[in-house]
This record gives sequence, structure tokens and C-alpha cells, in this order.
Amino acid sequence: MALHLHNTLSRKVEPFEPLDPDGSVGMYCCGPTVHDFAHIGNFRTFVFADLVRRYLEFRGYDVNHVMNITDVEDKIIRRVREQNTTLAEYTAQYEDAFFADLKVLNCTEAHHIPKATDHIPEMIDIISKLMERGIAYQAADQSIYFSIENYQGCGCQYGRLVKLNFEEMRQGERVSDDEYEKESVADFALWKARVEEDGEVYWPSPWGEGRPGWHIECSAMSMKLLGTSFDLHLGGEDLAFPHHEDEIAQSEGATGKPFVKYWLHGAHLLVEGKKMSKSLGNFYTLRDLIDKGYDGREVRQLMISAHYRETFNFTMAGLDGARTAMARIDECVAKLRDAKADAGDATADAIAGSH
Ligand SMILES: [Zn+2]
Repeated sequence: MALHLHNTLSRKVEPFEPLDPDGSVGMYCCGPTVHDFAHIGNFRTFVFADLVRRYLEFRGYDVNHVMNITDVEDKIIRRVREQNTTLAEYTAQYEDAFFADLKVLNCTEAHHIPKATDHIPEMIDIISKLMERGIAYQAADQSIYFSIENYQGCGCQYGRLVKLNFEEMRQGERVSDDEYEKESVADFALWKARVEEDGEVYWPSPWGEGRPGWHIECSAMSMKLLGTSFDLHLGGEDLAFPHHEDEIAQSEGATGKPFVKYWLHGAHLLVEGKKMSKSLGNFYTLRDLIDKGYDGREVRQLMISAHYRETFNFTMAGLDGARTAMARIDECVAKLRDAKADAGDATADAIAGSH
């Protein structure tokens, strides 16, 4: 039976037909922003991506899995400044922690793990193309912005993933902040001109010193490793807008080709029925759960017990249930192993008896 996937782009369940008929599949999953330890909501997305990859491989596809590391953005720069450290030193600790956590959850490592700070020239290249096509402009603050109006003027549609109504958007508003929770509409920053608070975090560019916006990072790294058009792009549903919408606009605006064929989004995770937050005391990193005596298999089992497109309510009682479920599976596997060993003995006896 053909594999079917729900594509956020069409809002439909579609048969999976990779762009390349030889069975190779390009898959990009937005990776962590290494400003802190990742929380269990983040890990739900990574476990989901791991499941997709493992299943595609089980079906015989040759998957090229890319997951980036966002090692430069507003929060990171703020922490680097506060702690009087360097960008590389600050991000390395959380990057190491992230990969250790992925291992605990038994997630397969991506084939390519590009870092944003290693791909600044590729980002500048995309921005240059957008400038040439008149889809990007330099504003009075020297930053470069993506013009949604000019993009739409080229016959392209902005807002296909979340079906935005452009007429209702507050036009002219500029977004210089690229933090996750920011959901402002209209033009967004591609390149942010250097400001005093950036400290030593800046790179040269044709438009002056500065740093990339968050969205352009994923466009540059995904297209470098998977080509201008590729099969699958995954991420949490909170990234669909503006992050993924902006990725589509920048990439298609620069190349004039379709960016991604299938968009898959994992749903939110609640904890004890509420949005996870430090002030509510229901905020957990994977490490918090390990400290409580649970292991990675139990956490993974609980996360994959729900459909990825459904909001999942993570509870401690659920985690205890996952422990019971894992114990049952382990017991069943042990019994099957014993039965196989017994059968092996019987076969050996039969062979010995026949001689
Ligand atoms: Zn991304």
C-alpha cells in the first residue's frame, strides 16, 4: 500500500511520491536553538521526526536527513552578553547536552547537522538574489527586510501554510525580533544591521556588518544540502508561522522554484492539561524526568503513544503507564527469546537424534 502523508501545504492526506523516482528522499527538520536545555515539547518534535525517518527507511527509501543547529539568534546573543562569554563557548554546552538527550531518547542522528554560523555566505547569497529581484530592501536602520508586497507582486502567494489573509495583515510593520513566540505579520528581517547590544556577534556583508535573521538560516542550510526543491520539511506546528512561511517565501523568491513538496507539522504538547511554563511549575526538560527516575525509553514510548497531529497531554501518570507498557513489552520479548532458545534446543536434539 502506498504511503500517505498529511501535507500542511494542501491540508490534505496525499500519497507520498518523492521528487526523485530512484527512492532517495530529502528530509529537513528544524533543529534546536541552543540557548538552553531543550524541553520535552521540543523533544516531541524530534522523536516524531525520528519515527518518520525510521519508517521511510523501513519502507526502503534512502533518506537524507538534515537537522540544523540554530546557534545565532536574539536569545543566544542576549545570554552571551549577560554571561560575558563568546557565542561558540555559550552554544557548545547546550549543543552537547542536546545530542546527549537525543541519544537517551534513542533518536537516530541526522546525516547532516549544519550550524547557522558556518553558513553565513550561503545566507548572504540568498539575500543578494532577493535584492536583485526587488523582493528585499535595505531600510533606514541598515537592516535588510523581505517585502511581502513585492513578493506577492511577482505572482507568488505568501501565507500558504496557515492560509493567511494578506488583506487583513497589518502592512508596513517590520519585525526585527526573531524569537519563537513572535508572530507578527508583514515584512520580516533577512539581515539585521549590527547594533551595540550584539557585542562581538556580527559578520561582514555587502550591506554592512550584521547578522542573519532566524528564518533565512533554515532556507540556506536546507537548500545547500538538499537542493532548491526537496521532499519533506518537518517541525513543530508553532513553527508553521512565521518561520516556515518565511522559509518558503525567501527560498521560492530567490530561486523561482517550488521549495518543499510535503510539510509535516507535529502538534503541541501540554503538561498536566496546561501549556508548559516555568511559572506554572510544569516545565520539564528531559533531564528533569531522568532525575525523577524515568528513562529515555519510557519518555519516548509515552510521546509516540499519541498521534503526532493531536495535541498531547503529558502527565506523570501517563509516564507511569508508559513504564508499565515497556515492562510488558520487555517481558513478552524475554518470553519469546526463551521460547526460541527452547525450540533451538529441541531442534538440536532432533538433529542429534537422527544421526
Ligand atoms: Zn527552521
